[in-house]
Amino acid sequence: MSLLTERWEELADVKDELAVRDWFMGTSGNLAIKVNDDPLQFLVTASGKDKRKRTSEDFLLVDGNGKPVNETHLKPSAETLLHVEIYQKTSAGCSLHVHTVDNNIISELYGDKGEVVFAGQELIKAFDLWDEDAVLRIPIISNPAHIPTLAKEFSEYIQEDKGAVLIRNHGITVWGKNAFEAKKLLEASEFLFRYHLRLLDYKNKI
Ligand SMILES: [Zn+2]
Repeated sequence: MSLLTERWEELADVKDELAVRDWFMGTSGNLAIKVNDDPLQFLVTASGKDKRKRTSEDFLLVDGNGKPVNETHLKPSAETLLHVEIYQKTSAGCSLHVHTVDNNIISELYGDKGEVVFAGQELIKAFDLWDEDAVLRIPIISNPAHIPTLAKEFSEYIQEDKGAVLIRNHGITVWGKNAFEAKKLLEASEFLFRYHLRLLDYKNKI
């Protein structure tokens, strides 16, 4: 199996798993996986597809500017530039972006603070935070409609080879060294968001 096919299958498997969780409402969300470092090439979801289905047109190969490497009728996802920023600035191998109700509510609740903070939660270990008093801070940025502007703002928060950033009332983007790690960070983040919202709900009732 060629590296391209291998990466394609890896990303398609992640897509299937996230689709089962219903994390691609209304064709939203986009996924990417690096195939080559130099020159930079990565697979990214094609725009406007139903991500619950698995087809040979789900992804296309793009370059370091987010442009298709080969002649194709497929269009890279409108938010491909966010993935470009990640691969240009880090050694990450996979990046995932989903819109969920939970991540949108959290981003709105804490958007004015510019971050949401989690401490004393087992699952922050997914981010390699092992100390008892460790704190996970997930930045929340605004959501300009102009994607290059969004990508520029997003880029300021890409400081490590793995991470997560919330875009207000839009979604979350996570990245990690490979598909396994990126998915782990995404699941951990969504767990923390849901836990937090349910706890707030519970506290409001008592
Ligand atoms: Zn989006």
